[in-house]
Amino acid sequence: MKYLSGLWPRKYKKSLGQNFLVDKNLQRKIAAGCSFKDTDTVLEIGPGRGALTRIIADKVKLLYAVEIDKDLCRHLEEEFKNSPNIKIIHHDILKLELPGYFIKPKEKIKVVGNIPYYISTPIIERLLKYRQNIEEAFLTLQKEFAKRIVAKPGSGDYGSLSCFVQYYAQAQILFTIKKNSFFPVPKVDSCFLRLNMKDKLPLGPEKEKEFFRVVRAAFNQRRKILRNSLQGVIPQSRLDHLFSKYNINKNTRPEELSQSDFINLINSQENTL
Ligand code: SAM
Repeated sequence: MKYLSGLWPRKYKKSLGQNFLVDKNLQRKIAAGCSFKDTDTVLEIGPGRGALTRIIADKVKLLYAVEIDKDLCRHLEEEFKNSPNIKIIHHDILKLELPGYFIKPKEKIKVVGNIPYYISTPIIERLLKYRQNIEEAFLTLQKEFAKRIVAKPGSGDYGSLSCFVQYYAQAQILFTIKKNSFFPVPKVDSCFLRLNMKDKLPLGPEKEKEFFRVVRAAFNQRRKILRNSLQGVIPQSRLDHLFSKYNINKNTRPEELSQSDFINLINSQENTL
């Protein structure tokens, strides 16, 4: 508890998703799990009370820590005033344009963050949007959410979030983190997740939009068989043709289709017009 007193504000802001990582062993485990190198430039999302900031900064060339809470930023500035490779940035991560603000257009950085649960999805969407500037990201997320991200076909967790993230990145849970490693203690356990951004994507921009339209439609009504949930998205005759071409059962449900099955559906659509 010593860590929570002293210089730092005693109160935490629930509205900003503040659950601070207070277990020192976990802090070290996360820093080691990131496998950063001394040539890396790293963006830390939500440094909070700096639990990970110093341990990570000691391993890398430069660390930008983006924190929305002004009070915390003041304390972080004070805490790290003698650490030239730590730059504290008072900003909303969801409003920060990565290339241009502090990253050069072609530069690749790495990302780490015990990110606030209330904006986990938009943060991940943003990281994937900027994937050309990001090599990999290491994120602490609610366990259930992380499981949905890495889920494979056939699992109850598999859905449009899995397809969306796995389209752009390879996702892997490195380990779980018990909820009592945080203060205040959240309701659920967390997972430490690695996202490796893919250099090459399987579809061009137009087909990519189509892919996500089909995936969303398929999982919007996941209890329905695929043939019914894609009604109005892909004409039935075309669907039947595709199902037989790719040996997909007519009564298949969306969670049984792998990402490459969905990609096949998109890729072959125009050939069957
Ligand atoms: N990294 C610290 C740790 O592990 O103890 C704090 C983690 S806490 C779960 C999330 C942090 O993100 C908080 O410090 C919170 O103020 C900050 N935060 C919340 N929303 C943010 C936003 N939109 N942009 C930047 N930081 C944000």
